[in-house]
Amino acid sequence: MKAVAIMFPSREVRVLDVPEPRLHSPTEVKVRTLEVGVCGTDQEILNGHHGEAPKGEDHLVLGHECLGEVMEVGAHVQGLKPGDLVVPRVRRPCPHTHCPACRHGHPDFCVTGDYTERGIQGAHGFCSEHFVEDAAYLHKADDSLRGVAVLTEPLTIAEKGLRELAHIQSRLPWKVSPGKALVLGAGPVAQLGAMALMRAGFDVTAYSRSPKPNEKAAASEAVGVPYISSKEVTVEALKKQLGGVAVIYEATGASKVAFDSLQVLEENGVLIFTGVPGREEPLELDGEQVLGRLVLGNRVMFGTVNAADSDFREALEDLARFRARWPGRVEALITQRHPPSEFAKVVEAKGGIKHVISFQEHAR
Ligand code: BGC
Repeated sequence: MKAVAIMFPSREVRVLDVPEPRLHSPTEVKVRTLEVGVCGTDQEILNGHHGEAPKGEDHLVLGHECLGEVMEVGAHVQGLKPGDLVVPRVRRPCPHTHCPACRHGHPDFCVTGDYTERGIQGAHGFCSEHFVEDAAYLHKADDSLRGVAVLTEPLTIAEKGLRELAHIQSRLPWKVSPGKALVLGAGPVAQLGAMALMRAGFDVTAYSRSPKPNEKAAASEAVGVPYISSKEVTVEALKKQLGGVAVIYEATGASKVAFDSLQVLEENGVLIFTGVPGREEPLELDGEQVLGRLVLGNRVMFGTVNAADSDFREALEDLARFRARWPGRVEALITQRHPPSEFAKVVEAKGGIKHVISFQEHAR
């Protein structure tokens, strides 16, 4: 079968002919890949900043955001049958007995760094015609989500962030309404994060680079999220316009705007970092000022990566809620579908919101 892989050490992307995967245990499932989302992490892998082949191999099959259809189930698999839609999780636990997070079913909090991530770190991804996965790492998606479930994985980033936020803000039991939230960026993780924040009751504003009009701004405003360009409105002016915000959800990976935005964060507010930083120039920070903002206002900053079982379940439920609340708007985040052979081109694509590799529309 065909698989899209990056070769090591050349980092060249190729369509390879690889052996058809088979079930090796009664708890495994064979899946036909329908769609694979392409994201900034893929770009980091292609640019040589991230990513590793499975041990002893010279290539890594790409793709970690996936929607597939069950082809075959092992004898002990319950709750899945051929034809069901499924979304796989990305990270697999490290082998160490002393890693409490992995041993508690939370490889997303792994403390050894020896986890694997399918399509990213030491394990083949899903950008192949078929793949095999243990049922424990697959989430059944309702048929009604066929057109959008490839967005589940990027939405899980927000789900985990909001879960952590809820824990932190349980320190403010008197707070009656969630308040305002500012989303930094307007890519897929930002747009889905904005929807998740709205679902949680926040009054959300998007703050991103490109001036209006542009399609990301239009997508934001179509779900009732005002869009402000950082090229037109400085952080100081933004603060005047919005007053303080209770939560900032950063989804750019750009450290300057993230730290600058602390000025807009109100007392007891939380700044959530989700963007894996790109390779930027070193940032000069006024440490005293940052510490002052944190300490003297009980502000919290935290980073969050990857997601757990419960975040995938929540994301699938949220996709259904979002579709009901904003008809057509989740679908509209997928601006283009491409054949598998275009993976490398898609990674560099400018414009659009979410680019997806489709294995069905472009069958061999
Ligand atoms: C993925 C995460 C992964 C992270 C770091 C992100 O793009 O969504 O699942 O943990 O990259 O590799």
